Amino acid sequence: MNSCARCLLSTEVPGVSIDQNGICSVCRDYDRSWGNWENIKKEQYARLENILQKARSQKQHYDVLVPLSGGKDSTYVLYVCRKKFNLKCLAVTWDNGFLTDHARINIHTACSKLGADHLYYGLSEPLLMNLYRHFFLNTGFFCPVCLKGIYTAIFRAQAAFNIPLIVKGTSKRTEEHVHPAYFLDGNFSFLENVLESTPLKKDAEIIIQPMGLFSSPPAINLPDYMDWDYDFIFKTITNELGWTAHSPDAEHSDCKVDNIVHYIRYKKYPVLIPEMLRYSKLVTCGQMDKKEAERRVAEKKASLTEPSNLGFFLNALGISRDEMDTVLSDPMRHMKYLKERSRVGRRLKVLKKRLLPRL
Ligand SMILES: [Zn+2]
Repeated sequence: MNSCARCLLSTEVPGVSIDQNGICSVCRDYDRSWGNWENIKKEQYARLENILQKARSQKQHYDVLVPLSGGKDSTYVLYVCRKKFNLKCLAVTWDNGFLTDHARINIHTACSKLGADHLYYGLSEPLLMNLYRHFFLNTGFFCPVCLKGIYTAIFRAQAAFNIPLIVKGTSKRTEEHVHPAYFLDGNFSFLENVLESTPLKKDAEIIIQPMGLFSSPPAINLPDYMDWDYDFIFKTITNELGWTAHSPDAEHSDCKVDNIVHYIRYKKYPVLIPEMLRYSKLVTCGQMDKKEAERRVAEKKASLTEPSNLGFFLNALGISRDEMDTVLSDPMRHMKYLKERSRVGRRLKVLKKRLLPRL
């Protein structure tokens, strides 16, 4: 038995194991953390009200910061913060250089309809593309640069405007299974290891230098505190904010190269057909029927062709097709950069930075 009896995962997917009842580790983790959601959701919602009231009572210019990508989740977070809780919001968008015009329109419309202030932050395009190129050629990944950029944008804005709380639309409750074999977030050690002894390190300092001494800024994941039903979310933001999707099943229509990320992942690990992890998670958390998920995955598999924007992507990063093929032929090339670096050294760096300006 190597496939989960409940979701779409199998032991072919890195990090997945199946127990004697035929249930995979991802479904078991979900049940352990969120299996009793129906029983605890009232309590969680009361907790949320409490947390937001505390943020409000700080009487700052903004009660909360909402990271806004222009996608479904973040737009709904802004909607909830403004419409349900009447919070004063600053929405912050990290411009990763591949933000779609479509996302910009959704962002603009949501902020103006909801009465939220908004700012964009992004690195210069040549630097960003150089970073993506360096990371892709050396590790086969370029998303970690973007993910770290998101953190930089929101944490810096949070500190600059003294905002008591960050409210995010991401959550382990609703997001797909990921594993370091095929997905890396923007963790410090990885970024520092990859940039070590390269001229890019200095230029990238703004996004790789640590921001906090011991703790991260206060942040919550909204889906941990309230129902997060995608059909309902889609209807709400479409009807009330005029939000539009690029295509009906586009998960991240805010990024021009999101389909490339999925394509590259599939090329490295043929078991990871685009959207399979996403649909599998929806099955695990009871938002999609397994048959329906299987049907959609089969449909994706049958229609899998090279993305029409692959040339655009390679051109933007200045990478040849041969270079891409070399990267794809060695899917584990990133593993050697995963070594954790000392946190003590990093904290000393922050301390030095904090003390020096005062001397
Ligand atoms: Zn499962």
